[in-house]
Amino acid sequence: VRTDDLISIAQAQQAVLGATTAPLPAEEIPVTEGLDRVLAADLAVARDVPSFRSSAMDGYAIVAGAAGRRLTLAGEASAGHPAVHPLAGADHAIRISTGAMVPDGADAVIRQEDTEGQDGSIITTAASRPGDNIRQPGEDLAAGTLILLRGTRLGAHELGVAVAAGAGALTVTRRPHVAVLCTGSELRAPGAELGPGQIHNSNLVSLAAMSTRAGALPILTQTVPDDGPGTSHAIARGLEQADVVVISGGVSVGPHDHVRPALDALGVTQKFWGVRLQPGKPTWFGTRGDRLVFGLPGNPVSAVVTFNLFVYPALSALLGAILSTGKDGSARLTVQIDKNPGREQAIRVRLRHGDGQLLADPTGPQGSHISSSLIGADALALIPQGTGRLKAGDPVRLIDLLR
Ligand code: AMP
Ligand code: MG
Repeated sequence: VRTDDLISIAQAQQAVLGATTAPLPAEEIPVTEGLDRVLAADLAVARDVPSFRSSAMDGYAIVAGAAGRRLTLAGEASAGHPAVHPLAGADHAIRISTGAMVPDGADAVIRQEDTEGQDGSIITTAASRPGDNIRQPGEDLAAGTLILLRGTRLGAHELGVAVAAGAGALTVTRRPHVAVLCTGSELRAPGAELGPGQIHNSNLVSLAAMSTRAGALPILTQTVPDDGPGTSHAIARGLEQADVVVISGGVSVGPHDHVRPALDALGVTQKFWGVRLQPGKPTWFGTRGDRLVFGLPGNPVSAVVTFNLFVYPALSALLGAILSTGKDGSARLTVQIDKNPGREQAIRVRLRHGDGQLLADPTGPQGSHISSSLIGADALALIPQGTGRLKAGDPVRLIDLLR
């Protein structure tokens, strides 16, 4: 990669998004399977929530009035079990629980604590007004209201609200299928005994995990030794089965880097190779039809950084997800950092609050082989290319990290 051929992070992201066509098709799923999926259609409230006048307290359904009244107890309404008879009149009360349907004839609920119990009757010890302690129909969610928009990523809150709003099924975007191919003859399976010169294949697990977190489905994960035919075969399979092929390692210029020749032979068109980014310079991106292919550098830190910067936006676009730019932002560096004249740096940082500001602490040594710099990292802080340095206290731009 010649330095003057390199493009900026922003240019690389534009190239990726430019090559990522419309979102994938929609599918219906049960709401119980909706976690981390992306809505493909706006979700409206099916019917008022609550759909009936509902008691907000444990107490008695009554006709509102002054304190000091003796009311005859006649019946009970509990959650899921409405009273059998309506309230007979202003001198009657029906025992009621939180969440129970307020019986016809009653216009208030008086709290248990505002009454004194007698045999078969109660005495009100506080005045009440019409509507007291009654949740009105539609007070929480009114029928027809759009509560979740297309492109929303579904978390625990969204799913609970969707169910409350009456949804049993959800229309979501199909998950992008991702093939994770890790090249390197030195790579061994997690936990395996290591021979001389061998290392554990950490990218195989972390790239699949980030794909899942991003809302995609890692359908194929494979370790590929550094040889031409094996590399071609694995990539061909990835292109057949997946929407997005993520390759780690083998994209540099060494004699054992077989990925680019294989991609070329398979008709994958290069969109860029080389980004003015540290770590992550040799990142490669190309397409074949609507297939997206990423060649990420093998160093685990570089792989994580480039996945977040380039693969995540592509997966989000395929999902039609509203990018949560709210999570990106800025913070103040807590240490000084020398700029790199040739490249933008993506420093892993932990975020904390101090002096009413968001502070970014680098996670320690930042070499691309220092995987411990990923532990506890909340975000990437982007250090602009240039000369001189950023001082402690200077603002930096943040990119959220998948974890
Ligand atoms: P490469 O990009 O193939 O030149 O690899 C760069 C460095 O990352 C080398 O030290 C590799 O051993 C290491 N590496 C490559 N792939 C992986 C992987 N899947 N897991 C952990 N380390 C890797
Ligand atoms: Mg390699």
